[in-house]
Amino acid sequence: MQVTLLGTGDTTGTPTVGCDCDTCTEARRRGVERSRFSVHVRNGRTGESLLVDASPDFRHQFLTHDVPLPDAMVISHIHFDHLDGLGNAYRVFDDLPVYAADETDPATGESVADTVRSKYDYLDRITVHDVSPFETRRICGLDVTLVPVDHPPLLCYGLVVEDPETGAKLSLSGDTSYDVPTESRGALRDPDLFLADGIVPASLCEYHPIGGRHENDQGVPRTFGSKHMTREGALELAEELDAKTTRLVHTAHFYPVDEAFEEPLAVDGEQYEL
Ligand SMILES: [Zn+2]
Ligand SMILES: [Zn+2]
Ligand SMILES: [Zn+2]
Repeated sequence: MQVTLLGTGDTTGTPTVGCDCDTCTEARRRGVERSRFSVHVRNGRTGESLLVDASPDFRHQFLTHDVPLPDAMVISHIHFDHLDGLGNAYRVFDDLPVYAADETDPATGESVADTVRSKYDYLDRITVHDVSPFETRRICGLDVTLVPVDHPPLLCYGLVVEDPETGAKLSLSGDTSYDVPTESRGALRDPDLFLADGIVPASLCEYHPIGGRHENDQGVPRTFGSKHMTREGALELAEELDAKTTRLVHTAHFYPVDEAFEEPLAVDGEQYEL
């Protein structure tokens, strides 16, 4: 499978509009972007493509990267930066299957699939399919599994995408704190490529209203606030999962400029052959 990172930024992206911080300025100078989150997975055997999350930058992403339009989508959770690009399906797709989790979220009283269905009830170009967590579905010839992660107050899911023929494995942490449940860690284990939410370095936790949590033995917070992993937390999770290659995604322009373009922070357009 060929994996293209279409959107590697957090909810404001880098550069952030109206921002002239050193990191946004340097991104403009380098001509690189971290747009809102989306990952394109192409099955080389069947020629089909699966899109993970519907970025608000969908149009721009498909105009700037040479990848085919998807044959199906999976939605990890209902935050703006992962869902609100779905309106782009209008007059672009005839019938696009969209897969999302079926568990009722106590915070909303609906599942992710329900919210997608109700929010886009005007859009007859999509068909929403319910999937249970840990239930593997064959989508675009690939085995896709949603695994619960920790992104309070909303339910959110990481993702495992495996090629049943070659055994190639892509794991995505989804938007999550370091507190990923054990069963989900088991499913995410041993990926060829791991895309991990590492929104900021742990050093920035002092600027978060509730600080950091899930400290390691050295007292370094592995969670920024309550919703996302720090860089350090993401890298520890990658090590625990024994990831062959790790890219940090969902990164914010708050990374100091001398750290923002260091490895293994991803930028838009990176491609991996698994
Ligand atoms: Zn900025
Ligand atoms: Zn989120
Ligand atoms: Zn997000």
